Amino acid sequence: MKSYNFCAGPATLPFEVYQEASQAVIDYNQSGLSILEISHRSDDFIQILEDSKNRVLQLMQLDANLYSVLFLQGGATMEFYRLSQNFLFPASKAAYINTGVWSQKAIDAAKFSGSVIEIASSKNENYRYIPSDFDIYESYNYLHITSNNTIYGTQYQSFPDVDVPIVADMSSDIFSRSIDYSQFAMIYAGVQKNLSPAGMSLIVIEKQFLDRFSNILPPIIDYKQHIKNESMLNTPPVFPIYVSNLTMQWIQKQGGISKIEAKNNEKAKILYDEIDRNPLFFGHAEIKDRSKMNALFYLKNEEMSSIFEKLCQEASIKNLKGHRTSGGYRASMYNALDVEAVKILVEIMQSIEKYHG
Ligand SMILES: *Cc1c(COP(=O)(O)O)cnc(C)c1O
Repeated sequence: MKSYNFCAGPATLPFEVYQEASQAVIDYNQSGLSILEISHRSDDFIQILEDSKNRVLQLMQLDANLYSVLFLQGGATMEFYRLSQNFLFPASKAAYINTGVWSQKAIDAAKFSGSVIEIASSKNENYRYIPSDFDIYESYNYLHITSNNTIYGTQYQSFPDVDVPIVADMSSDIFSRSIDYSQFAMIYAGVQKNLSPAGMSLIVIEKQFLDRFSNILPPIIDYKQHIKNESMLNTPPVFPIYVSNLTMQWIQKQGGISKIEAKNNEKAKILYDEIDRNPLFFGHAEIKDRSKMNALFYLKNEEMSSIFEKLCQEASIKNLKGHRTSGGYRASMYNALDVEAVKILVEIMQSIEKYHG
């Protein structure tokens, strides 16, 4: 029976991607070698890497003369620290907006590098909104934001209009909507939410921004060294890069990000409409800041949780539980999740109202 995976990460990927990736594990491009054993210096892999960088820039509509793309081992958590080492130093300051657990971790990691100023936070209301009332008086090396808050289900609908370069953690909404990517000095993401298996960060940096800094760093921490070595300072994560490439091809075949966005909007509307309509449930995030990727919601009567969970289980709905810090239920509706999955979830929410409400 088909499963409907609402997991927040690692997330579901398109079935076509699984099919093609599994074939490549057995024999990549009729080379007689598995994608898992090809040399990262081989022509085959260099081609995958170059093509992947190009596709990232195409999808973001960014100019290769102005932006560099990296695929590095480590994940978003590694970048929390690495970016601060590159762009902060003891005598300087960076501004952070705290919109949840991941923002907080980014803040904590950056404190090892320099002075971190939390200029706005929604912690006072358990991160159920995106703060917009802040001013920037001082000079900061960058402003760090988390574009989509995976755990609390909030998402920036528009981005701060400031004179400070913006660094954005887009782990959980990368390539999910059409935005102007050129408003960011750096975009990064752990790839396991919307692109590929875990084990890698995708990083896009504006060259002009990077050139402002000349911190002396160990090469593994230094973005400039990674760029100079074309993401091959050490063995790159060949398989996640390959699968990302397939996922990006899939996005393009679907008609590009605008088509993906329309599908994401449709899924989110179906679910939020039901959360708002159904008297048994309530949502966490403020309506204006709701995430199209992760919807956090609760049952009003916790005693109904066992019947709700049983119905979900019978329908092969997987990983709907909220994060351990938030509780409740979290439906992660990443790019590859079909509309059908959300409809099935909504049917269960309706049936529990009808028979048990
Ligand atoms: C999952 C997630 C992370 C952590 O990513 P790792 O790759 O596991 O380090 C960071 N930020 C956001 C917004 C996330 O959703």
